[in-house]
Amino acid sequence: MPRGITPRQPTKTGRHEGTRKAASKKPGALQAPRSGGSARPHTVRAASPTAKARGKAYNPTAPDRVHEILQRLNALYPEATCALHHKSAWELLVATILSAQSTDVGVNQVTPVIFKKYPTVQDFAALEPEQLQPDIRSTGFFRNKSKSVIGAAKKIVSDFGGQVPDQMDQLLTLPGVARKTANVVLGTWFKKNEGVVVDTHVHRISRRLELTRNDDPKKIEQDLMKIIPREKWTLFSHQIIWHGRKLCIARRPKCVDCPLENICHAADKTWSTVEIHKNAV
Ligand code: SF4
Repeated sequence: MPRGITPRQPTKTGRHEGTRKAASKKPGALQAPRSGGSARPHTVRAASPTAKARGKAYNPTAPDRVHEILQRLNALYPEATCALHHKSAWELLVATILSAQSTDVGVNQVTPVIFKKYPTVQDFAALEPEQLQPDIRSTGFFRNKSKSVIGAAKKIVSDFGGQVPDQMDQLLTLPGVARKTANVVLGTWFKKNEGVVVDTHVHRISRRLELTRNDDPKKIEQDLMKIIPREKWTLFSHQIIWHGRKLCIARRPKCVDCPLENICHAADKTWSTVEIHKNAV
């Protein structure tokens, strides 16, 4: 192990419990302590030298570090894409509005029902919010979402000839559509990299990886747009969202299984072979 790197010790609270089983399954992953052996974790691969060890000031947004993060995400999630089922820009827009404070799985159960009942944007535009509410109730905040979906449908029919616009400024005129939703539609359906989708996963993981120190989604997006190549904005968003679901989960990230582990200094890691940065949360 390179000098200057001190593995983080398992806590007395059992925070690291459960890592032993996960580590033992995965060749090349970090290994948990052997039974009866030292309580200190060790690795079977060398952790990368810290900036301190190399005598340089640590810059978490340095191009080479960002490039390394992107490379590892590409290897982990090469085909990452939007998990919301859709067959058109309109269906994706509706699904994205419904996904606020809900799970994609929950939205995917609701959307086939409503798109069968109301096949076109004109069908939605003709509804009163109360008519849609029962069908989307399970996604939560159904009164507001119903107003947004029907309001967006009316505006698309009246102002955009029934077609979902493919321009950011036009999308932002639709009720219930802010930059996150617009970025999903532009990036996923229209293949336009106009911004980075900052949902709860991108928010959390960008901070853990020290790609931003901001807490406001608009500022986080601006930070990410400065350091990530434009052609990667949409893919990066999807990859981070997948990472947030599979490994870097909110309450108990599976750091022992994470290929980003030795370049991640997040304060709430559950396992670490590198120094922890207390502001990286
Ligand atoms: S090492 Fe842990 S906190 Fe860091 S990105 Fe991976 S899962 Fe998230």
